[in-house]
Amino acid sequence: MVFVLFNTLTQRKEEFTLPAGRDVLYYTCGPTVHDYAHIGNFRTFVVQDVLKRWLEAGGHRVKHIMNITDVDEKTIERAARKKIPLASLTEKYEKVFFEDLDCLNIKRAESYPRVSDNIDKIAEMVAGLYEKGHAIRDKAGSYYFDINTFPDFGRLSGKTPHRKIRALMQREDYRAPKNFLLWKRCESDHGIKCFESQLGRGLPGWHIECASLATSFLGPTIDIHSGGLDLTFPHHENEIAEAEAYTGRRFARFWVHVEHLDVFGRKMSKSLGNFFTLRQIIKRGYDPRAIRFLYLQTHYRSKIAFDFNKLDDAQRAVFILDEVVNSLAEVEKYGANDYTDEIAKFKSGFSESMDDDLGTDRAATLFIVFLRDVNRVLVDKQLSNTAVKNIGDTINWAIDVFGLLEGCESQQ
Ligand SMILES: [Zn+2]
Repeated sequence: MVFVLFNTLTQRKEEFTLPAGRDVLYYTCGPTVHDYAHIGNFRTFVVQDVLKRWLEAGGHRVKHIMNITDVDEKTIERAARKKIPLASLTEKYEKVFFEDLDCLNIKRAESYPRVSDNIDKIAEMVAGLYEKGHAIRDKAGSYYFDINTFPDFGRLSGKTPHRKIRALMQREDYRAPKNFLLWKRCESDHGIKCFESQLGRGLPGWHIECASLATSFLGPTIDIHSGGLDLTFPHHENEIAEAEAYTGRRFARFWVHVEHLDVFGRKMSKSLGNFFTLRQIIKRGYDPRAIRFLYLQTHYRSKIAFDFNKLDDAQRAVFILDEVVNSLAEVEKYGANDYTDEIAKFKSGFSESMDDDLGTDRAATLFIVFLRDVNRVLVDKQLSNTAVKNIGDTINWAIDVFGLLEGCESQQ
């Protein structure tokens, strides 16, 4: 089967291929651990998990790295507001994040490098960019990427703000550039956590964290880089500029972006205050698998307009799944129907949907139809011994691809 995936970089579906025997090098932008992640954030993480699961179902080994942003302006500001050390804030929310991942049955990445543990690597990349003439150092000792030195800037997002910025820069003092930050010099330590590095005392910019961690842990060229749609610009655009200017190699072959989850007609976000955390959803009595199934019922490149009716529907689908799994385990009287054609038809339909740009929406519909059909024949006691076993195996295969094993109880 041919697996095609939409690549933001080329704006078209492309066949995903890999030299035999090599792992898929997979980087996903991780959370900023300053608060609870909301269910809009988790949509991206669940889709990324299913992408990994589908690659694994296709026989690939996936080497997955996700960064943990435990130092940036948001975390510093929040820790200062709460009057607590930065580390106690970030340790708490990092723990919460992993609990939520487990609750949603999201497979662990190979490694979750923290920014605070990798300051030297990040500083080294900034220093390298400066040496190669891609960075500017201001009077204070902060470093900025000079996007004039990277002609491909804007290729991913289709934006060309560098033209505007260049015009701006011609009018202004070049020593006070309007380019994006690589390293911010810390002049004082009044409640601000600054790191010692070869660049002096300072804090890394957000984009360089990912460019540095992705290339350090996976090498100069990775196969798939993924994140929420809003990261396309400027975050991913800047990552490409940094990584490619530094290594001289193409940074990522495939860019996979996940659409937003809207609520009340607007993107769910912390700043708008229109969000639900996973814990709030579970407290309302929902099975975490229901939220997972809700995500998968919409294609990842389409928006989800979240409402509780949709979540109720997803919860019902999960109940049907449990009912069928339980009924299969309790069959005592067998019939003559081997159900061979139905199983084959479901498996090929499901696979075709998934192979076409991770069509979880169509695959989810086929799964529900399959479960309902199985339920009906189970009631009529028509299934043979072999059929019961094969249906069980098939359902387990789909459960594994969708990650619908029970993650956590509704106890949080
Ligand atoms: Zn990133």
